[in-house]
Amino acid sequence: MEKFQESMYKLIVETSTKLPKDVRRAIARAKAKENAGTRAAMALTTIACNIKMADENVSPICQDTGLPTFKIKVPVGVNQIKMKEAIRNAIAQATKDGKLRPNSVDSLTGENSGDNLGEGVPVIKFEQWEKDYIDVRLILKGGGCENKNIQYSLPCELEGLGRAGRDLDGIRKCILHAVYQAQGQGCSAGFIGVGIGGDRSSGYDLAKEQLFRSVDDVNPNEELRQLEEYIMENANKLGIGTMGFGGETTLLGCKIGVMHRIPASFFVSVAYNCWAFRRLGVKVDPATGDIIEWLYQEGEDVDFAKELEKAEEKASVNIGETREFVLEAPITEEQIRQLKVGDVVRINGMIYTGRDAIHKHLMDHDSPVDLNGQIIYHCGPVMLKDENGKWHVKAAGPTTSIREEPYQGEIMKKFGIRAVIGKGGMGAKTLAALKEHGGVYLNAIGGAAQYYADCIKSVEGVDFLEFGIPEAMWHLRVENFTAVVTMDSHGNSLHEDVEKSSLEKLAQFKEPVFK
Ligand code: SF4
Repeated sequence: MEKFQESMYKLIVETSTKLPKDVRRAIARAKAKENAGTRAAMALTTIACNIKMADENVSPICQDTGLPTFKIKVPVGVNQIKMKEAIRNAIAQATKDGKLRPNSVDSLTGENSGDNLGEGVPVIKFEQWEKDYIDVRLILKGGGCENKNIQYSLPCELEGLGRAGRDLDGIRKCILHAVYQAQGQGCSAGFIGVGIGGDRSSGYDLAKEQLFRSVDDVNPNEELRQLEEYIMENANKLGIGTMGFGGETTLLGCKIGVMHRIPASFFVSVAYNCWAFRRLGVKVDPATGDIIEWLYQEGEDVDFAKELEKAEEKASVNIGETREFVLEAPITEEQIRQLKVGDVVRINGMIYTGRDAIHKHLMDHDSPVDLNGQIIYHCGPVMLKDENGKWHVKAAGPTTSIREEPYQGEIMKKFGIRAVIGKGGMGAKTLAALKEHGGVYLNAIGGAAQYYADCIKSVEGVDFLEFGIPEAMWHLRVENFTAVVTMDSHGNSLHEDVEKSSLEKLAQFKEPVFK
């Protein structure tokens, strides 16, 4: 079992730090399609740069290392209890080594276990089979995209698309709607797994199962093959684009599975996965515990270091004709009022992380630091403490901002905060507060955890460590931290605009296609 534990550790580290070949090819294809100088092209360049850095540093691609889910097939007679124990040990070790963020919290108290273990975490699903080796597959699916999963109960009425009936055409409408409703919040461009049939829980299981298929495989079911192709061709016409900035590529892969259902229910379940599609697998020898073969290795690999060199792109982004500003806190209202949607800002100096626990806390308490004129970063970083007690940032991309919508506007006004950085945009309440108070929302590139960690030059303090590492308030000194203004102090929101135009485009798919 010691060897098996070692093999599982290798699988976890490789999954967290290196995207599989099929995913890399899909991202490279998307990058080639975007026109230089657009926001989407800039986002994809940052993503490419981030993948390269994660490869080189053997560090997490994204700071949200997700809920580890293992799907394991074992020959009859293999001890599953011992395997489970070895996997749990490997998870705890990978967390200690900064390859996974401590991501397991008590659902009632919010307490972080610190080692990624807990009731039901990690998810480990066993199945027996008659082959003579063990097949272990692992997916690390982050919260931003998990929260964009959606389930439809047919028949139903869909915004922009009208009635979706209990047939292939109704399923088609549900899938297009699923892509539309995700917008950029699940860190598009994304991959979707679709499960048709089952009940509410087995339908979602089937949808997630599809994410274990290779991006380039061909569905053996002819009807589903056609549907997959149709979705890939048409979902990209919605124009949501990378990070919801608008653009040519919204979807990188679509895989559909089907199972029986009971006559009264007809579910279509959609599992959305961000571009940081971390899933890998290995074949293991049950006698020795050694890895015999790595899975998902077919086809050409994309070396993003070479890709970036080839295009003569630098680690810094190409922003074409876009206006560019440098910000350093404390920021004045006048500086903020100059900024408009579409501007690129480069931040130097201090920023403070704050996510769910801190926003809730600050509603009724004082802040431990003076936040007047400051910048809040929606981020739960991966941090490691060295033997001298000094903290180091291992991964630090933005988290989904919409979760803070109930608090954000009020907190900005209460403490005089001038800018928030996050991803996916925020709602009407925050937009109104930005206008009234003089604030901006800055969209960083979701998942670009290595890219942003590199911009952080020092960790100057921390508060609320008792909330757990991801939820604490980290005081970070940054240099050249780049983000795009997507909500300004004049009532403009790029997110609102893209949502509106994609809804209009969705309506072109109202008429039946599959009889
Ligand atoms: S890339 Fe985005 S959605 Fe995916 S895990 Fe990272 S933050 Fe979450």
